[in-house]
Amino acid sequence: MDLTSIDNGLTGKGLIFVISSVSGGGKTTVIRGVMEVLRDLRMSVSHTTREPRPGEMEGRDYHFVDKNRFKMMVDEGFFLEWAQVYGQFYGTSKSSVDSFAREGFDVLLDIDVQGGMQVKEREKNGILIFIVAPGEEEQERRLKVRGTENDHDLGLRLEAATRELAFINEYHYSVLNDDIKNAVETVSSIIRAERCRNRSKTAIQASGGNKRNET
Ligand code: 5GP
Repeated sequence: MDLTSIDNGLTGKGLIFVISSVSGGGKTTVIRGVMEVLRDLRMSVSHTTREPRPGEMEGRDYHFVDKNRFKMMVDEGFFLEWAQVYGQFYGTSKSSVDSFAREGFDVLLDIDVQGGMQVKEREKNGILIFIVAPGEEEQERRLKVRGTENDHDLGLRLEAATRELAFINEYHYSVLNDDIKNAVETVSSIIRAERCRNRSKTAIQASGGNKRNET
């Protein structure tokens, strides 16, 4: 399957929206809100080697696989993108994204920055949105001012956040999540605007112009 051949014009083939953030950026809540606003959006269910958390369901939250199986899937070229995140492996299957796209649905990927970069490189239809929590901005500012953080755990988190934040300029959009309602509205607006940007011209051309003006 070659996702680069997907046409996002009038044919209605889907766009791929990547949403990333640093850990604790409130991404999951924003995504949940966006999925309620834009009912025709579809979410890809990733594969992961991490253990299910209480309440998580196989096939709904993730496809849970062991490391050997994941490695085999990597070797078979099963993934559109994959990455090691906080010691576990995560990947987006080509087939799930492709089947949504072929049905004409836009797909939303909740993936980390490493995965975001892979999608950006491989998919011309990828639109990357970074969710920034106000706390992260403050974290970054503190890191820059102080240089080092004494508390080991906090240091690790800050380090990861700094590493992840460094990718923000690679994203097409950054959305400050200082208010969940605003963040959901902003991300939904970006998705709507990108749909217009990618489809409107080809749609008008293919329909032979504005028919209402012809009569
Ligand atoms: P969690 O274990 O908390 O569900 O997810 C940890 C991180 O892995 C989150 O940043 C999430 O976005 C990311 N993640 C989830 N699925 C995928 C995936 O398929 N690919 C990549 N690259 N990251 C993923």
